[in-house]
Amino acid sequence: MMKPWRCKTCGAHLGKVRRNGSGIHQLLLYREVVDTSQEEVADVDVIAVVEGYAADVRCSNCGGTRTWVPGKEAIVRLLKGTGISSESINKIFEKEEG
Ligand SMILES: [Zn+2]
Repeated sequence: MMKPWRCKTCGAHLGKVRRNGSGIHQLLLYREVVDTSQEEVADVDVIAVVEGYAADVRCSNCGGTRTWVPGKEAIVRLLKGTGISSESINKIFEKEEG
């Protein structure tokens, strides 16, 4: 399932978010910002797939910037590779999820 990823300032579509087979969220960036109030956007070129790292994306419609933050799943996957316990990882997210 794809979720639109919109500019927080003007609401234009900057890309869309999907989950890959491993449950990791990926941001698919559009070549051009789509200024529309529609929920779904068809036939837009995707120029980049962002996964596992943060990225600042500039809206060419209004000049605003939105930051993509990788989903919890992607961060957990990275942290597990470092040997941090699941308990410690969960504590990192406790504040955010309140
Ligand atoms: Zn914008």
